[in-house]
Amino acid sequence: MQNQKLSKRDFLKLLGGLSLGFLPLVGCFNNRKPEGEEVAEKKNISGNTPPTKPETVSESDVIVLQRDEARYAQYNTSYNKRITLLPKYIAVCFTVAGVRHALQLAEREDLPVSVKSGGHSFEGFSSNDGGLVVNISQMKAVTWNDDGTVSVGPGLLLRELHSQVYARGKLVPAGSCGGVGIAGLTLGGGYGFFSRKYGLTCDSLVDATLVKADGQVVEAAAEKNLLWALRGGGNGNFGVVTSLKFKAHPLPQVFKTVTIKHTIPDGPAFGEMLEKWMILTPQLPPEAFGAFVQNGKTLTLLFTNYGSGDIRDITDRMAEGARSNTASSSAGKPFADALKRFYGRPDPLYFKNASCGYYQHFSDIASVATHIFNEMLAHPGLIFQVNTLGGAVNNPEFQGASCYPHRAYPFLSELQGYYDRPAQEADILEGFRNIQKLVRDRGVTAQYRNYPDVEFPDWQHAYYGSNYDRLRELKRQYDPGNRFRYPQSIGAGAPGTSA
Ligand SMILES: Cc1cc2nc3c(=O)[nH]c(=O)nc-3n(C[C@H](O)[C@H](O)[C@H](O)COP(=O)(O)OP(=O)(O)OC[C@H]3O[C@@H](n4cnc5c(N)ncnc54)[C@H](O)[C@@H]3O)c2cc1C
Repeated sequence: MQNQKLSKRDFLKLLGGLSLGFLPLVGCFNNRKPEGEEVAEKKNISGNTPPTKPETVSESDVIVLQRDEARYAQYNTSYNKRITLLPKYIAVCFTVAGVRHALQLAEREDLPVSVKSGGHSFEGFSSNDGGLVVNISQMKAVTWNDDGTVSVGPGLLLRELHSQVYARGKLVPAGSCGGVGIAGLTLGGGYGFFSRKYGLTCDSLVDATLVKADGQVVEAAAEKNLLWALRGGGNGNFGVVTSLKFKAHPLPQVFKTVTIKHTIPDGPAFGEMLEKWMILTPQLPPEAFGAFVQNGKTLTLLFTNYGSGDIRDITDRMAEGARSNTASSSAGKPFADALKRFYGRPDPLYFKNASCGYYQHFSDIASVATHIFNEMLAHPGLIFQVNTLGGAVNNPEFQGASCYPHRAYPFLSELQGYYDRPAQEADILEGFRNIQKLVRDRGVTAQYRNYPDVEFPDWQHAYYGSNYDRLRELKRQYDPGNRFRYPQSIGAGAPGTSA
């Protein structure tokens, strides 16, 4: 494909005209930049201001798709099939210059902008109806820096992180599902098997490049307040993150798992198992992780461990009365291969998932445990999961350096509802909301931003706690026109107002 260069003026004319589909789509995934573009970008980044001269862009920088165009549907997919939003424009961006052009179009037509990387937002916050989506899923470059850090493009998926970074003997602590985007995960916190040892994914983020609505490019490491905000509060709120730089940790040698399955006869038995699990798992070494997954009558307990600490005492006690107990080890195989079994289903699904509260102790939900279990039996497809946090997640150093507010909680729960056909949604939602009410009525209100629900009351404090007001101040500084917005974006109004 020929790289057709256009002046900024020509390009905007084309964007506004009838010929949006002119750009040849064959080979549009080519991430190579024309030579002149490199210079323009570098100048802009170091100068920290949008270029004064017209920038040239080509299909190597951005392709703008409208609803009637061939590739629109391909780029409009979300992992959650419940999301049916139809933006006016999808700007598939390959470079910072492309992102800036997309933002100029949004400014010109006064459109709200959403940012999409891996497309795994539960509630479709990376898309919108009638606005513009900056789709950066193709920006996947991985660069190793002299200081041992690694810079990655926001479109990198976790399975690509594993194959490209872990394969080099280095670890960026992240989640496990292969299709999740590193950008959305990090900007909302990011937890997984490695969090109890190294902290959340955002705690390893040392810098990020952000393109603001006005096209200005800023480096978060030079603006400590911005870095603080991007560590847990950066999802589509302040601008488009076009690069993330991470501290890389040593890759562990071996990854071991224990999977225990129980048949749970009734609510009291469910409560007993959960209580036992919540008493024992905080004693796990920092290299170990535990998940409690109740699906109908089947309880699956997953334990992972990449350290030398022995967790058998805990797993043996949790396996008492189990119907199966299976152990595995990655010894002799590449470390990244051991994570593949946790990649999850690659294709989009119908689901309603949400955070179901952070807990300190079993007592937080003891009185409603039986009711939660009964709702799961009454509404097949619901899964109630609790994951271990604690350890380094609660490192006071990380606390001050990030806006993620829920570090003191050792447990995070997630409610999941899966179904095959839209007609099944109403039943799932009924059970889902019943469980949410049970937990909320127990006074549990803290929620994980990366497991959002559009129905959470006072989501501002549920996600961000007392940090919300400071985030709002920063929103007013970085996106005063509220160009980046979605149902639960940080408000640009003055504190005390409802915007
Ligand atoms: C199957 C599945 C498994 C999951 N497993 C885990 C897990 O193990 N651990 C965990 O912590 N979370 C997990 N999550 C939640 C996950 O962290 C969030 O859904 C995350 O926001 C997804 O990021 P994304 O880039 O894939 O999604 P997107 O839908 O592209 O984006 C999600 C949000 O981030 C914003 N965003 C994305 N990219 C950028 C960017 N470059 N600049 C600015 N804003 C941006 C979007 O605007 C949107 O608000 C899981 C989710 C799913 C569906």
